[in-house]
Amino acid sequence: MLKVYNTRTRSKEEFTTLEGNNVRMYVCGPTVYDYPHIGNARSFAVFDTIRRYLEYKGYRVTYITNFTDIDDKMINRANEEGVSVSELATKFIAEYLTIAKQLNLKPATVNPRATEHMDDIIEMVELIIENGFGYEVDGDVYFNVPAFEMYGSLSRIPMDELSSGARVEVDDKKKDPRDFALWKAEKPGEPSWDSPWSKGRPGWHAECSVMGRHYLGLPFDIHGGGQDLIFPHHENEIAQSAAAYGIEVPVNYWLHNGFLTIDSEKMSKSEGNFSTAREVLDHYDNQAVRLYLATGQYRQPLDYNENAMNQAIQSLERIKNAVDTIKGRISILERIGSRESDADKKLAEASKRLRESFEKEMDDDFNTPSALAEIFTFIREINTLTKDVGGAAVLRESLAVLTELVGILGINLSDDTRISKEVGQTLETLRGTIEILLELREDARKSKDFAKADLIRDRLKQLGIEVADTKDGPTWKMS
Ligand code: AMP
Ligand code: ZN
Repeated sequence: MLKVYNTRTRSKEEFTTLEGNNVRMYVCGPTVYDYPHIGNARSFAVFDTIRRYLEYKGYRVTYITNFTDIDDKMINRANEEGVSVSELATKFIAEYLTIAKQLNLKPATVNPRATEHMDDIIEMVELIIENGFGYEVDGDVYFNVPAFEMYGSLSRIPMDELSSGARVEVDDKKKDPRDFALWKAEKPGEPSWDSPWSKGRPGWHAECSVMGRHYLGLPFDIHGGGQDLIFPHHENEIAQSAAAYGIEVPVNYWLHNGFLTIDSEKMSKSEGNFSTAREVLDHYDNQAVRLYLATGQYRQPLDYNENAMNQAIQSLERIKNAVDTIKGRISILERIGSRESDADKKLAEASKRLRESFEKEMDDDFNTPSALAEIFTFIREINTLTKDVGGAAVLRESLAVLTELVGILGINLSDDTRISKEVGQTLETLRGTIEILLELREDARKSKDFAKADLIRDRLKQLGIEVADTKDGPTWKMS
């Protein structure tokens, strides 16, 4: 029986679905304004493993994870970089998809973007106002928190703490400091959409209410995200969905992953102590990174450091060596023929025991470190028994069980196409070299040496690198 810790009830509950065999699941995805860091990668990997385990248990999972492609961070970064918000989003969505591949995340059923759902968002805000939970001031729209009695049910933050304005933005336009923006009138230079209140854009929380409902219907089974999102993001999401659509419990199970620290320090982009997921994945074997991310139970904090990574590399080697041991024995038996022995029975029992104990640990709120420990117990058994096993079928079965179970943790034993450190570095060098050539070409153009500028462009083209001139300068892509 699967038990999951539900933030909504602060207890481990038996998992039951709302509708038969289907699990409808929404996970808050990245704000695509910067390179995802290794903490973000933890969140992505945690929910990928939860999804994979649910599928292993026989559920059909609809998995939605969004891209936040419009908010203050997007606008500020686009201005800093001198690009449009949509160019910024395109760049970092591509980056996320590359990381997702390296981390072996199963593709989502849909990756919706906030900007694709403006009509739905406006409709939800209209409903919230109509139902008496929202008000307009000078083109801005706010959620009227005191009107919504259940406010605070997820985060359980005392209301007086919120009223003091310590954890919420104080703004003269708001009737109550706890009120939050549903719609913001545009400021000069910001992207904006037409609405009944002003040309503007949605508040931060609106998109997840809308996209969850759009793709999954309300209520749905599981909503995931990092612990930092409990307040205000998810608290406000519940308030919006309940106020607009009259559904008191829009989500059954709220699951939140713990934070990743680096060398025991809180990760913070403003402190500049974060490692991007790309840096980590280019440096280490991608499967070892995924194994490392499974070494912590998802709700607990997890520290990223060199020692932890080295241990993960060794653990992965142990798994791969066990696979080689089994494969080696199978090929010997193919030559000399099968001859069953006591070891066959013992290995068959060990495989069965592994499956049972792995499931027991994962059924306990996805306890991946204990599930991994069970895998290593099995590997010790493989190492002692395999040389005496006489039947290839038993060996194949052991290999299949091992492959299937580590696969739930995101480790693909049949995949040897890892992007090595060397390949990663070569790609970085190539990228840098192209940038230098484009700078030289710009210099040539400025001094009206168009023959040289064209030569650089044509030679790059021969190498499969297409250069395009835009108003923001040249861009390039592999053709
Ligand atoms: P963001 O791009 O900031 O919206 O974050 C994407 C996801 O990563 C969210 O679910 C965050 O809660 C989660 N997250 C952010 N920082 C960390 C961290 N240091 N450790 C674990 N999860 C994180
Ligand atoms: Zn969200």
